[in-house]
Order: sequence, then structure tokens, then C-alpha cells
Amino acid sequence: MSTAVVVGSGPNGLAAAVHLARNGVDVQVLEAADEIGGGTRSGEYTLPGLIHDHCSAFHPVGAGSPFLSSLGLERHGLRWLTAPIDCAHPLDGGEAALLYRSLDDTVAGLGADGPRWRSLMSDIVGGMSDLTDELMQPIVHLPRHPVRLAAFGARALLPATVTAQWLRTRAGRALYGGVAAHAYRRLDRPAGSAVGLMIAATGHVHGWPVAEGGSSAIATALAADLVEHGGRIHTGVTVRSPSDLPAADVVLLDTAPGAVLEIFGSAVPDRIARAYRRFRHAPGAFKLDIAIEGAIPWTNPDCARAATVHVSGDYREIVAAERDVTVGRMPERPFVILGQQYVADPSRSDGTHNPVYAYAHVPAGYTGDATDAIVRQIERYAPGFRDRIRMVRSTDPKGLQSGNANLVGGDVVGGSNDAVQLLARPRVGLDPYSTGIPGVYICSASTPPGAGAHGMGGYNAARSALRRLR
Ligand SMILES: Cc1cc2nc3c(=O)[nH]c(=O)nc-3n(C[C@H](O)[C@H](O)[C@H](O)COP(=O)(O)OP(=O)(O)OC[C@H]3O[C@@H](n4cnc5c(N)ncnc54)[C@H](O)[C@@H]3O)c2cc1C
Repeated sequence: MSTAVVVGSGPNGLAAAVHLARNGVDVQVLEAADEIGGGTRSGEYTLPGLIHDHCSAFHPVGAGSPFLSSLGLERHGLRWLTAPIDCAHPLDGGEAALLYRSLDDTVAGLGADGPRWRSLMSDIVGGMSDLTDELMQPIVHLPRHPVRLAAFGARALLPATVTAQWLRTRAGRALYGGVAAHAYRRLDRPAGSAVGLMIAATGHVHGWPVAEGGSSAIATALAADLVEHGGRIHTGVTVRSPSDLPAADVVLLDTAPGAVLEIFGSAVPDRIARAYRRFRHAPGAFKLDIAIEGAIPWTNPDCARAATVHVSGDYREIVAAERDVTVGRMPERPFVILGQQYVADPSRSDGTHNPVYAYAHVPAGYTGDATDAIVRQIERYAPGFRDRIRMVRSTDPKGLQSGNANLVGGDVVGGSNDAVQLLARPRVGLDPYSTGIPGVYICSASTPPGAGAHGMGGYNAARSALRRLR
């Protein structure tokens, strides 16, 4: 029987382990933290009974993941829940732009920009299954849907600021700017449209669901599937050198490229080591877990019906904030993503208090305290929010990294989504999962198709490893 070791139990590590185990490989997973899941962990981080997500919270790409969907993880308790509104974007003056899973409802809510939103999204939404096929694998491949891919590529390669010109209203532009900012990079740079268009369109197909009981349900379900297929998981084991690894035919690293170099050193061929050293990380995140009494007192009542709220001002403010964090400056008004997962999943609250999740985009490795800047952004659209706070836990980029070595400088997207790394990460090559060391692969969000709790990087890397084993 072939053997494999997977280092790291994030969704990609677990997905790799599951695919190998389902193909008859004896798999062990080694995880540095005391619990599994990496970005898919949840816990009572403030008051007892309130469930907060550690990282990943909303799962258009999780629900739409071809690999996760193929596993039947509902057998192991994974259930996606959606709020009446997937994402709200409040603006000064009480207006809010609303993103629904239904394209029609979104269009209806956007007034004059409705038809423009439809023309921006409808081709991508209609071709989602073909596009998922193409974009969930390394860019260097023989496309099965070349026309669809080329049409998407032509639009994705534009800066987000160019795409935004297509929309005319304050609400339409803010809604688009908010989703585009998930790319975690300057909106005025080439290929800045790719992530935003994909996230919005994927949302129109799958919604932006949360996992019932917390995102840890994703990891728990994958781990149950792994164990069912004979795999084993060891927590509290940090791999620092090859001597920490049990003997195995293949090793898959759910780590950043820099960690591959730290672990394997000069065993990594020069050409690949140089590419890993050049790998660029994204700006950082500063995260708050907040317990509040009652609900958030939004000025616009629709915001209370959304699981995700972009608390980040209008389009121009988003463009400025993303530019600032990219050049290492902390914006006075940062881009903040707020989660009120309890709207979709009331089991996360205790009936009196609710768990609020919020993180700001900050410069890489930011050492200041962004707590007040985040609370001020929320208070701007929900006056009285501050008075409802009963407890806050703040985590700066260093804290994020100390809980998960992959979050280098607080980078939550596994590496910059600049044009080059969007197309080829962590390096250019036919098999970007190969580290160049025979039998050793990298499978984290630093590989195609990039960030998100979808497990596709792990699945693709496991397929490479299986080709070697056969
Ligand atoms: C604040 C935040 C918000 C996010 N929001 C969303 C969201 O809403 N939706 C979404 O889809 N995605 C979101 N993401 C991104 C998503 O969580 C990640 O893209 C995803 O978790 C990446 O999975 P992964 O398996 O590659 O790595 P990770 O989930 O980062 O897991 C890596 C694991 O490897 C372990 N590890 C690393 N080095 C070693 C070592 N040397 N030895 C042993 N173990 C090691 C780590 O401890 C960790 O458990 C968010 C991330 C963050 C941080």
C-alpha cells in the first residue's frame, strides 16, 4: 500500500488527504495547531455559547467546490445555511446596496444600475459550470471551454476600476467595489476584476452560505471522511525539517512556499527555490470577534437581514483603502468585512447575545491596533453599536500568523493576487504543485486556484501525487 503524509489540516490539506485515502493510499495528517481546520476553525472566542469563525466565514466557493460537492459531506453533518440577503453594503445617508443569490432580485434592487449589473454578471453566471471547470485548475492546461474562458479572461484582466466604470450609481459601484476588494489588492491594477467578478457570480449561483454550527463543520466533515477511509490525523505536531516526517512515498505540504524552503532547505532545486523566494504575500488582516447584546442597530434595516456586510464606504473610499494597505499605509477608514453569521444560523447565539465577526484590510505585518478604526466603521452605519458591545477579542496580523503559520504577515489569501500570481502560483510550470523534490508537493492556497475554503488546491495536488504513485 502506498503511503502519504500531509502537513497541515486546512481545507486543502484535508482535501488532499481525503482524495489520497479514497484512492487507497495510507494517509497521515500532521497539524501544528491543537485542533484541525486551519482557516476553517470556529470556537467560543468571546462569551460561552457564542460561536465565532476563526477565518473562513462565507462560502460561495466552498458550496461551489466540485471536489467538496462530490464527497457527500452532508453525511458528516455539513449543512450550508443562507441569510435572506447574501451581502449588504450600507452607504452614508441610509442607502444600502444588496446582493442576493438571485440575480433578478439583485438587479431589481439596483435601480438604474440593475440592467448593467445583469449584463456584467449574466454570461459568467450562465457559464459558471464551464468556468469552474477551467478556473479550478492550473492555468496551463488544454481548455475544454476555450471560448468561455477567453471571454471571461478578457474581462477579468481589466483593472476593477475600469469594470466599475460600467456601473453608474453610487450603490452599484460600491457593491462591485466591495466584492472586488476581496482580491486584497489595488483595484486599479491589471487583472483586478478577476476575483470580484468570480465571487459575485459564484454568489449568484451558490449564495454566500455559512456552515451550520461554524466553519469548523467543514473541517470536521472532511476529517470524518478521511478517517472513514483509513486516514489518521495528529494535532500538535509542527514539521520543521524532513526528520519530523514519518517515512512516506509522497509528502504534501499545506503550507506557504516559504515554509517549503524552511523545511526542505537546499533539497528544493535552485530554480524553484528562487521562485518561492520571489513569491509575494498580500496585505494583512486585523480581526475582531465581538459579543454584542441584541442585534446590530443598522440604520438601513436590510443590513440586519444579510450575513455579510461590507462596512467600507463608497467605491472611491474602497479604492483608496486598498491602495493604502498595498503601499503599507493604514487607512483611517479601512475596508471592513463584517459577518453576522447568526442571521443565517441562529444556533451560533445564546438568545441574548450575538457573535459578530469583522476584519479590516491592513498593511502586511501591521503592528498597530485597528480595533477602534473597525468599530468606528461599523458605528458609522449602525449608531449605538458600540454601546451593545459586551466583549471584544482583537487579533493583529502577528496573532493570526502565530495561530497559523500560513498567514504570513496576516495574509489571509495565501499570497498576492497580482496578475502574475493569479495566473501562476506559486510558480510558473506545468505542475505548480510539484516542489521539484521527487514526491514532495505543495497544496495550500498558495497554489491554483488560490484562496477560499474549497479544497481544490489540495485535490489537484493529490491528483499529481497519485500520478507519481501509479
Ligand atoms: C480572516 C480570514 C477570513 C477568511 N474568510 C474567508 C471566507 O469568508 N470564505 C472563504 O472561502 N475563505 C476565507 N478565507 C480564506 C480561507 O480560510 C483560506 O483560503 C483557506 O483556509 C486556505 O486553506 P489551506 O488548507 O490552504 O490553508 P489553511 O487553512 O491556512 O491551513 C493550513 C494549516 O497548516 C498548518 N501548518 C502550517 N505549517 C505547518 C507545519 N510546518 N507543520 C504542521 N502544520 C502546519 C496550519 O496550522 C494550518 O492548520 C479567510 C481567511 C482568513 C484568515
